[in-house]
Amino acid sequence: MDDLEQRFQLLLERVNYLDQRDVDKIKEAWQFAKIAHSGQFRKNGDPYVSHVLSVAEILVEWKLDCVSIISGLLHDTVEDGITSNEDVLKSFGEEVSLLVDGVTKVREVRLQGDKGEVTIENLRKLILVMAKDLRVVIVKFADRLHNMRTLEFLSEEKQRENAKETLEIYAPLAERMGMGEVKGQLEDLSFRFLYPIEYKNLILQSKEPYSKAERNIKKMKRFLLADLANRRIRVKISGRKKHLYSLWSKLNRPGIDGDYTKIHDIVALRILVDTVDQCYVALGLVHQRYKPIPNIGISDFISQPKPNGYQSIHTKVFGPNGKTTEIQIRTYAMHDQAEHGAASHWAYSDAKLKGVSDEKLENTSIIAEKSKLDWVKQLVSWQDDIRDHEKFMEAVKFDAFAKRNFIFSPKGDVYDLPVGSTPVDYAVAVHTQLVWHVRGAKVNGIMVPLDYKLKSGDIVEIIKTKNKVTPNKGWLDFVVTHEARKQIRMANSNLT
Ligand code: MN
Repeated sequence: MDDLEQRFQLLLERVNYLDQRDVDKIKEAWQFAKIAHSGQFRKNGDPYVSHVLSVAEILVEWKLDCVSIISGLLHDTVEDGITSNEDVLKSFGEEVSLLVDGVTKVREVRLQGDKGEVTIENLRKLILVMAKDLRVVIVKFADRLHNMRTLEFLSEEKQRENAKETLEIYAPLAERMGMGEVKGQLEDLSFRFLYPIEYKNLILQSKEPYSKAERNIKKMKRFLLADLANRRIRVKISGRKKHLYSLWSKLNRPGIDGDYTKIHDIVALRILVDTVDQCYVALGLVHQRYKPIPNIGISDFISQPKPNGYQSIHTKVFGPNGKTTEIQIRTYAMHDQAEHGAASHWAYSDAKLKGVSDEKLENTSIIAEKSKLDWVKQLVSWQDDIRDHEKFMEAVKFDAFAKRNFIFSPKGDVYDLPVGSTPVDYAVAVHTQLVWHVRGAKVNGIMVPLDYKLKSGDIVEIIKTKNKVTPNKGWLDFVVTHEARKQIRMANSNLT
């Protein structure tokens, strides 16, 4: 048996979470892919199918469903192979054909002309197919991950092009979908090709700080394992190394200016337990052993999950020798969600989906999870609003991918808004009609002007007018979200 067949056998062993019928379909897809790509080779000389097999392997690693894995195997057959969409549809059904078509559509179109425009066109397509089925993006992430891992075989120009697109579009998208591990990997791979000198320097410079922090974590781990064992809590404690690109970005922040001692989470201590109750017990034990740092102390993302679904308790404590250390506490389930995000909604859930019609699917929890991703729908609606390429890119980049602040309603609902957002942006995010009733705003209980720049953690209360009042045109001078701008303009243009 050759190398590839051996890898495929291993893959089959790893999909034991699927039933036999699905496994047979996957075998069929593998045969299909081999025929479609016969005689094709990658730049490094490997047979082309080694690439689609790698993509499928990544999807299995993320424990994805049968449809996604098959789509991974077939994702390049229509574009590069000798098959057509109809062939895929006939052999593998509608879902697979939709996914393969989606991935094919968002392939990098290397057209002549302005490169910026090509990327934007891709982004538009990507957003449109995402709205149909989010698994398209997940297969695309797996594809991109493998392409980035083998980027060294392309020309330098292509390397930079791909790395830039990955850093500007795919990594932020992965973050927004809660796929933290994928985001970290994509960023580090891009970093290496976009800033090769900085990358090499950082690896050298960070060696000592990393290992120092690791030694520290080791000490803490011993004590905490004993403390938790005394309470008979089953626990896994590890050190989480910060990804290189994320470290580099933080080092470049004003106020940090390359000072490693100001980075408290270069290696964070991570505690995994079975239940939510145990998370809080663990937090208590941590604080009895190591005092929390006043003011920057605890973030409880278990009771207040981040909008992308992330849950965990973060606390910063005085570790051994007074060294500030971040500790993250979460359940195994939360950990899986944090690493795989949107992908984890499809993990293991395949059985539930089998043979169920689209209408019935609407009622399942899996679809309910998808509705959390309202921002995708919003992006789709902008497609029509913003015809101009550049403006579209600006809106998408700023609203969807800019650094987000977490803003709370008085009831504790969380909204994530781009940095620089004001109470008016918040009002529109809560409900588009609320913009007709804005009289004033309180932040953390104190009246503020409407152009006040909100900060993460702010609790915002909109003081409402009784009757509908046309939103002030002057607000256009300070709102930052596309949706707020649009609502204020629409309201004022309807007056005539
Ligand atoms: Mn591919």
